[in-house]
Amino acid sequence: MLEDLDIAKFGGTSVANYAAMENCVKVVTANPATRLVVVSACAGVTNILVELASGSCRSERLEELIGKLREIHYAITACLPSPEPLNQRIEEHLRLVRDMANSASMERSDNLTDYIVSNGELMSSFLITEVFRQKGYQAEWFDVRKVLRTDSCYGRANPIVEVTASLCQEQLRPLMEQGSIVVTQGFIASNSEGQTTTLGRGGSDYSAALLGEALAAKTISIWTDVPGVYTTDPRLVPHAMPIPELTYLEAAEMATFGAKILHPSTLLPAVRRGIPVYVGSSREPERGGTWVRPSTDSHPAYRAVALRKNQTLIVLSSPRMVGVSGFLAQVFSVFAKYRRSVDLVSTSEVSIAVTLDAGTNTSGIPDISEEMLNELRAFCHVKVETGLSLVAIIGNDMSQSAGIVTKAFDSIDHYAVRMICYGASSHNLCFLLDSKVAEQALKEIHQHLLEN
Ligand code: ADP
Ligand code: ASP
Ligand code: MG
Repeated sequence: MLEDLDIAKFGGTSVANYAAMENCVKVVTANPATRLVVVSACAGVTNILVELASGSCRSERLEELIGKLREIHYAITACLPSPEPLNQRIEEHLRLVRDMANSASMERSDNLTDYIVSNGELMSSFLITEVFRQKGYQAEWFDVRKVLRTDSCYGRANPIVEVTASLCQEQLRPLMEQGSIVVTQGFIASNSEGQTTTLGRGGSDYSAALLGEALAAKTISIWTDVPGVYTTDPRLVPHAMPIPELTYLEAAEMATFGAKILHPSTLLPAVRRGIPVYVGSSREPERGGTWVRPSTDSHPAYRAVALRKNQTLIVLSSPRMVGVSGFLAQVFSVFAKYRRSVDLVSTSEVSIAVTLDAGTNTSGIPDISEEMLNELRAFCHVKVETGLSLVAIIGNDMSQSAGIVTKAFDSIDHYAVRMICYGASSHNLCFLLDSKVAEQALKEIHQHLLEN
């Protein structure tokens, strides 16, 4: 019965209000293979919860934010037949959030933040379950924390794939086999002590893919607010073009370099199991979308352009680097110790430059700590530059064809480029630019390489 299982994930705007939730119900019930529904918190809710968890809210602001949460969720219950018991359940979550936000104002922690923000997904998932039931469908609410197991890196936890797989087979599969549409949460998980963790901002896509892997799904569908993956963010470039088919590699490069449509880790579980991923609009499913697959018929040199803001460039120099081995190992061991993944790397005789992302940690606190920088300063000179953005061109065989790079360089020859990365992968070419000009540069690159 579940051989052709499809998992449908709906993002924040797709569950923003009652009308949006009705669209989700239509999308799910149009495909009998869709038996597991993974939802994000209603649009705006996670941002509010992150602020409450920051410990910086005075009581007036705290009440204002709790009021906003109430308003968002009560607007949904008001469209359901008996709102009162549902409102009571919302109130339980709000009470918990208020108490924990008060604790955070005494001492914030990533552990507490994850617990606070998890309430967003818990509320949206229980409300959309009610919308399914109101429409006459058999739907079961399921707490994903029973099966999605991670380590204890609060704020950006790492899944434990084997444990998750066996828990899903034990607990989630039987529930789906009973014939219900099972509704669960994206983004949140738990560690082996049963404490709530999160996968980092935007992590619901990753949750859907992890559950897809654990349950050997046939397809994973990411329903969002745009009809598929485009040649660049259609909000930045209105005439960006939809891409009907993408390879895992191309999509993963796009996500890594800032295409927000997919969380950067989403493709990992899909690749491990060879599960195709579909991206479409929950509001306009009829407009079609993008299939992300192991391979595609077309292999264009230029497929897409992506923008990633808030990049930090760290230049590390040591006169001792000349002819000495081990300097790079020393530098990278510090990044590894602080669990910082490095994006771009460039080296010279006496220095190395790397870029780090501001991070998708749920707390939103940039995780380039003074402590880490001091550890680097102990053996080299450290220069930190901010206000930079990464513009990445994603394509195929970029290092094997003549003229590809020249054409890309030509399109931004009037900008000062702080760093270029090329060659490690034949699927991308990256430029680091001043954030003030990066959006304009992206538009020009798109026009030059991808339009007409
Ligand atoms: P959700 O809440 O459904 O997860 P997100 O806001 O995380 O939605 O991602 C969808 C958004 O991603 C779109 O509204 C769009 O602005 C942005 N985006 C960035 N790059 C792309 C791209 N290449 N194609 C489509 N959308 C993109
Ligand atoms: N609600 C979470 C966020 O806003 C997770 C997600 O939407 O994917 O980051
Ligand atoms: Mg998202």
